[in-house]
Amino acid sequence: NTFAEIDLGEALNANIRRCKYVKPTPVQRHAIPISIAGRDLMACAQTGSGKTAAFCFPIISGIMREEYLQRPRGARTVYPLALILAPTRELSSQIHDEAKKFSYQTGVKVVVAYGGAPINQQLRELERGVDILVATPGRLVDLLERARVSLQMIRYLALDEADRMLDMGFEPQIRKIVEQMDMPPPGMRQTMLFSATFPKEIQRLASDFLSNYIFLAV
Ligand code: AMP
Repeated sequence: NTFAEIDLGEALNANIRRCKYVKPTPVQRHAIPISIAGRDLMACAQTGSGKTAAFCFPIISGIMREEYLQRPRGARTVYPLALILAPTRELSSQIHDEAKKFSYQTGVKVVVAYGGAPINQQLRELERGVDILVATPGRLVDLLERARVSLQMIRYLALDEADRMLDMGFEPQIRKIVEQMDMPPPGMRQTMLFSATFPKEIQRLASDFLSNYIFLAV
């Protein structure tokens, strides 16, 4: 049971070796094949379980595999292919750091945008192009309202620590964000929801955002 056995693409496999990951953690062992197969996923995963790689690997691998020739290039609007939502500046910045290591020399570009920091530098970074956007919900709503980001091309959506995002009161922002993705033909978007706990509110998010999903508790 090694990463080499999962068909993630040579460039990503090289980065996994560089990170010295040999054996997938339990959440990775189950979540990655499900996502590679194109299924939506709701996973119970704690901090330290290796969940970041569990949602980053299928996203990076999927973006590398496909060519998105028809992606529009607006004057000031960017069209990421994947969105990773996280509750805090710290977590989003950690995910960004890891996703950058995983996507080294793959041509996949990762940008982070969180609140509590000046927006201008984030805007300049976005203008250089973005495939995977890691964001906190409030800052992303701001970027959407400024029409600097469009979610119309989103093919992969990952919600990390969804229970914490709800505890922090981000549900209205999250719903607003996901509503903007309902433009692509149904079935085009693949969604992964990660949460440490599964209260009713999270189950409701899952039934609203996921289609025909697999529930994973490790
Ligand atoms: P996470 O739960 O995603 O925050 O990951 C916890 C820590 O485990 C991070 O420092 C990762 O770099 C590390 N990690 C994740 N997956 C693996 C793996 N398969 N082998 C070794 N270390 C890993």
